Amino acid sequence: MKIFCVGRNYVEHAKELQNEVPDEPVIFMKPSTALLKKDEPLFYPDFTQDLQYEGEIVLKISKNGKKIQEKFADRYFDEISIGFDFTARDLQSKLKSKGLPWELAKSFDGAASVGNFVHKEKYLNEEGHLLFEIFKNDSVVQSGNTSKMLFSFSKIISFVSQYFTLQQGDLIYTGTPAGVGSLKIGDILTGFFADEVIISTVIK
Ligand code: MG
Repeated sequence: MKIFCVGRNYVEHAKELQNEVPDEPVIFMKPSTALLKKDEPLFYPDFTQDLQYEGEIVLKISKNGKKIQEKFADRYFDEISIGFDFTARDLQSKLKSKGLPWELAKSFDGAASVGNFVHKEKYLNEEGHLLFEIFKNDSVVQSGNTSKMLFSFSKIISFVSQYFTLQQGDLIYTGTPAGVGSLKIGDILTGFFADEVIISTVIK
């Protein structure tokens, strides 16, 4: 099972981290050992002083495919969830400043939590978009709307499959909206579609 992530897929988030807005999807991967299931805690890693959350919609690939055309990409996933792309931001900044890969900052054990999966159409609004909200403790910290994505789910699937064979069960984290932030031990992150709790992750 592979985990793909899209970086800088929401303009407001790219700006909040002073990153350029990309003209094609920014893709990175996490190993399967990064996966943290719903309700499992994340233990604050000892190699960072600035663990941050990025709440994201996660697609589950439903059948194998490669070089998928964008117009057929919708056939390759049926279920979605919400997950957290956990990031050691201080370590990432250090690596980025040296032009080095991000894996140490984003692919460590537990760096990809994922919640319950629901059918992809369950929470579509009238315009065909998805809204999701992330709470840290009792406050809303991120409000996502897929209409604000630079690259659609279909575009992402098509793009990734030009390089990597997609296999049933692979996950794709589709990018985070603005509002990322730091965590401390004891924080509870909760992700919602409408009023359904999709994921809850405690930092221990
Ligand atoms: Mg992310």
